[in-house]
Amino acid sequence: MNKCSFCGRSSKEVKLLISGLTGYICNDCAMEAHKVVMENMKSKEKFDRTDLPKPKDIKAYLDQYVIGQDAAKIAMSVAVYNHYKRLQHETEGKENDVEIEKSNIIMVGSTGTGKTLLARTIAKMLVVPFTIVDATVLTEAGYVGEDVESILSRLLQEADYDAKKAERGIVFIDEIDKIARKSDNPSITRDVSGEGVQQALLKLLEGAKVNVPPYGGRKHPEQPFVEIDTRNILFICGGAFDGIEKRIAHRLNTHVVGYGAIEHTAKIDKNNLMQYIAPMDLKSFGLIPEIIGRLPVLTHLEPLDREALRNILTEPKNSIVKQYTRLFELDGIKLTFAPEVLDYIVDKAIEFRLGARGLRSIVETIMMEKMYESPSVPVKRLTISLDYAREQLEKAGGKIMNSGE
Ligand code: ADP
Repeated sequence: MNKCSFCGRSSKEVKLLISGLTGYICNDCAMEAHKVVMENMKSKEKFDRTDLPKPKDIKAYLDQYVIGQDAAKIAMSVAVYNHYKRLQHETEGKENDVEIEKSNIIMVGSTGTGKTLLARTIAKMLVVPFTIVDATVLTEAGYVGEDVESILSRLLQEADYDAKKAERGIVFIDEIDKIARKSDNPSITRDVSGEGVQQALLKLLEGAKVNVPPYGGRKHPEQPFVEIDTRNILFICGGAFDGIEKRIAHRLNTHVVGYGAIEHTAKIDKNNLMQYIAPMDLKSFGLIPEIIGRLPVLTHLEPLDREALRNILTEPKNSIVKQYTRLFELDGIKLTFAPEVLDYIVDKAIEFRLGARGLRSIVETIMMEKMYESPSVPVKRLTISLDYAREQLEKAGGKIMNSGE
């Protein structure tokens, strides 16, 4: 009787026996062999891609989705490109060669200026695993919240649980300013969500071998840990650092408001102090110097002016206006906004102090009734006039729908 050459079971004892030139393999052994091959391939897989986008290609891609913010875009493009180069250099195994250290980034910019959008957009074109985590949920180990290691759990999930792949990944830590030290004297009280988290994070930024629960959290106590070396993981941090302008202004020896020192500070653009940000401002905000030292690239996002907001409405590849136009097109309706409506929307976003985040909510409020009615009415064209937009917004009584961001 024919037997599996690996486990010795006969054709009666297995579901399937595949014959080769001189022997047989059963379905179970074939599955096992497949697993072994996959494992082996994983660990040997090298980072040797020749078609990597150059910094200018990366920026051009970002330009399609994000308006302005050139400084941050350039810093990010260079960092990602260098990250690829380092990975290539590493896998080529040039021992005794110059070791290229990674350059983690920190992006500072008011809320709603596009930090997360930049991160999300770049994620779409990356060839390495990428994850976005929110620093606000992180606490010191043992407290309610997530341990810093959970960041790596997420990355591992993105890498299909392949540790080697995760070790080449990129992590975006949003709202890094929320783990700033709350008081100047760190010893007064335990600062669970501040300095302790920064210390834990530092370990990851510096490069350490960390035991990671692959499924994250504390819900699966039985899961075996996976070791991840963070040496090659690129970290990009973002934060609004509310009020940091005052510290910058103070350092520059000027005042945010008032024209007293105007002669002395003639060259300083007071409307955009963020561009002068320096590592010492982050320190005075409450980031520990060790963390700042591990985030050598410091870049900023510009506040969005009227023109930028107007462009955000129409220019990006998936701009709000394009999205609504498409939405109506699916019902066979050609939607157009009168140009003055777009200006009106921008004015309202500024008036409500909602910035770019508010644009969507305002458009949503203006369009709600039409979205409700139009599919049932046989119309082919729909133009939103200024009067109509104003009427809808006023009807909503200034209650702007939450865009859920
Ligand atoms: P942040 O992370 O800086 O708080 P987000 O990236 O979440 O801000 O921006 C919120 C929303 O505002 C985005 O989803 C996007 O629709 C819009 N937005 C903000 N900045 C820009 C920009 N520079 N270009 C295009 N859209 C933007």
